[in-house]
Amino acid sequence: MITHSESETAAVGRDLAAQLQTGDVVLLFGDLGAGKTAFVRGLAEGLGIDPAEVSSPTFTIVQEYHGGRLPLLHVDLYRLEPKEVDDLGLDELGEDAVVAIEWAERLPMPASHAVSVRISHAPADAREVTVSGIRTDPAE
Ligand code: ADP
Ligand code: MG
Repeated sequence: MITHSESETAAVGRDLAAQLQTGDVVLLFGDLGAGKTAFVRGLAEGLGIDPAEVSSPTFTIVQEYHGGRLPLLHVDLYRLEPKEVDDLGLDELGEDAVVAIEWAERLPMPASHAVSVRISHAPADAREVTVSGIRTDPAE
């Protein structure tokens, strides 16, 4: 999917949010400035959380947003060493929430129930947003 603005990228996240359940993990891949945080803002909005709460968690590592259909944990692994990523215990953290992870390439192993979102720069300030791994069977 090609998006032409931050709000269009957020809208893709908003649509994805409708399909998410407790324990789901959204892995975000893409360079600095690709739009990962914008996408998470859309996820929040789609879950019924105030998107203004979502900021870049580069310094806090894990932020938790409430007030929506499901809690949202927002993680940014950018500044972490592999050992520190292990110590976060993300599996347990996310059991009762949706977890969105920026810089997911730093995870030691892929999470179960994961949806991958890849955002890359396209010409003229556009972005190519690829979402994969959404469950197709709603009963699963
Ligand atoms: P990341 O979290 O990947 O580092 P951010 O979401 O914080 O990226 O920032 C993305 C930046 O790119 C914002 O300044 C946003 O306005 C800009 N931008 C321009 N075009 C787009 C687009 N199509 N989708 C997302 N962001 C865009
Ligand atoms: Mg970010």
